[in-house]
Amino acid sequence: MKTIEFLSQLVIDTLRQLHSENKPLTNATLSELLASREEKLLSLFLVMGEDFKEKGLSLQGEKIACATLKKTANEIAPDHFSWLQYSFSKILESLAPLVKGEKESQYSQLLKETKECGSLASLSKIANDISSIADSVITASLEYMAYTNDFMVELSKDIYKVEEQVLSYKSLNRHAHDANSEFNDKIFSDTQEIRNMFALGKSLEDTRNMVTSKLNTITKAIEAKRKYDAVLLQKADRKISDLQNNVKTYSKEILQVKERADTLEKEIMLDELTGINNRRAYDLQIRKSLRRYQKDKDTFSLILIDIDHFKKVNDEYGHRAGDKCLVETAKLIKGSLRKKDFLARYGGEEIIAILHGINAENAQIVAEKIRLRIEKTHFSFKDRVFPVTVSLGVTEVLPGDTDPEIPFIRVDTAMYRAKNEGRNSVRVITDLLFCKIPNADSKAGHL
Ligand code: GH3
Ligand code: MG
Ligand code: MG
Repeated sequence: MKTIEFLSQLVIDTLRQLHSENKPLTNATLSELLASREEKLLSLFLVMGEDFKEKGLSLQGEKIACATLKKTANEIAPDHFSWLQYSFSKILESLAPLVKGEKESQYSQLLKETKECGSLASLSKIANDISSIADSVITASLEYMAYTNDFMVELSKDIYKVEEQVLSYKSLNRHAHDANSEFNDKIFSDTQEIRNMFALGKSLEDTRNMVTSKLNTITKAIEAKRKYDAVLLQKADRKISDLQNNVKTYSKEILQVKERADTLEKEIMLDELTGINNRRAYDLQIRKSLRRYQKDKDTFSLILIDIDHFKKVNDEYGHRAGDKCLVETAKLIKGSLRKKDFLARYGGEEIIAILHGINAENAQIVAEKIRLRIEKTHFSFKDRVFPVTVSLGVTEVLPGDTDPEIPFIRVDTAMYRAKNEGRNSVRVITDLLFCKIPNADSKAGHL
């Protein structure tokens, strides 16, 4: 065995040197390297010689060594070859218990190839395969170790949990259990005594007295047990009601937090001044409406409303008058829509409405109603009355509306048309030409 280890080490060292010097595994390179290990070889042969001697063979180690070392590189090649072959087989055999799963068939093939191999060149390929199989065995072992470690950690956590539960269960039940077994023992021994009394054959009077007295003790024991159980029950009741109270408090707190979150969510979506939805809410709603349109063909229209010469209102009557005017305009618009329509302040004095299930033709009628209503209203601030008009744009959703900006550009253009063509009017655009926006491709699909 020592000889084999020594030989394997020699082979591995030799191959390592070949590899580090980037030399191919040929007869010439191998012989050159083995020659440089002459001393080691010599001692190896001496050991081998001893082995042979022990086995009763007449060969002398020194003779083998000298004879072998004197041969030319080509002549000694077959010896080297069989050493390598033998060593490779031994290395592979030592890996056998570690090779598992899909590598197994590759391994058996390799072992077969090694044993049947007939040339140095194919041994060189086998060396590579052995190295790759050894690599995978090492990697698999490391992975398995990591997996085992994780598993052990998890397992110990689980065991700890179970242990904790058992302990708490035990302590909870210990008192009740102790009391029960004490009670059972007592009842058992008392009934046993009663039975014995009959067996003793005492007089009827004596037996009656003793039975009565024993029955008294049993009744007392039952009474005591009942009291004890009642106390336990009370304690358990108290614990349950504490628990119920805690649950009630928690659910109340959770409800409060949820209500607060709902309120915050609503507040975040509302415009402070007018109380209608804000731009953020519009951005979300239009995306939702477009998705519904693309999925179920649920049509809708947009109306964009901009107050005419609003700057003048601010300039002539003051900013607060402007604010009041904005609030009233929003109220008037809201009053002209159905409950299910969506209304938002888009920005400044621009208000936008989404009318679900309504085409542009019908939306135009609604827009006209809004225009007229505002025109007829007497706006006032601090006893000063002033007229207000609005310009409105109308559009409906079209198949090319893959991005919220596309229908908005249409409705905005329609509104500006109303401005440019004299204000206080409604314009409609349902032209497909307005479906495309610059860079629309890169923005498309962001619903
Ligand atoms: P046009 O008919 O072309 O729309 O004229 P306009 O004066 O309305 O012009 P523009 O839309 O450019 O001006 C909007 C003005 O609205 C400018 C801004 O000072 C005012 N404004 C925007 N938000 C508010 C607000 O919250 N309160 C008040 N009072 N004014 C606002
Ligand atoms: Mg304006
Ligand atoms: Mg404006």
